[in-house]
Amino acid sequence: MAFTIAEPCIATKDTACVNVCPVDCIHLRKDEDGFSSTFQLYIDPDTCIDCGACVPECPVTAIFPNEDVPENWREYIDKNADWYKMSREDFDAKWAAQEAAVYVAKEAAGELKEEGTVEGFDAANYGL
Ligand code: SF4
Ligand code: SF4
Repeated sequence: MAFTIAEPCIATKDTACVNVCPVDCIHLRKDEDGFSSTFQLYIDPDTCIDCGACVPECPVTAIFPNEDVPENWREYIDKNADWYKMSREDFDAKWAAQEAAVYVAKEAAGELKEEGTVEGFDAANYGL
């Protein structure tokens, strides 16, 4: 079992959860390469010890134990795991279009936070 970060992290990405994780299994951290170009953070399911410390830190209720991930966000369980076993190129090929669509919708709704901004984002690259 593990915890998963779901859709609400997109466009927020404030890293509040990172600092409380006792096993450093939430990435990317702000000081890691690629942070500014990611849409959200991901939990490594092989390292997560199910402590739940990250859950109350999240201002947008994005983190769930896997068994409690809402039905419409179940694919985020695979997405979190994929981040740790795929190359960035392969990960983006599988997931970036979905993430971009969520990002654009939140931006249009005025929900894009400064820390959630994806550097160099161009909706046209995703046909949006
Ligand atoms: S449940 Fe605990 S170990 Fe797992 S990501 Fe959250 S803080 Fe880290
Ligand atoms: S606290 Fe929530 S919104 Fe912030 S980075 Fe973690 S999962 Fe994303």
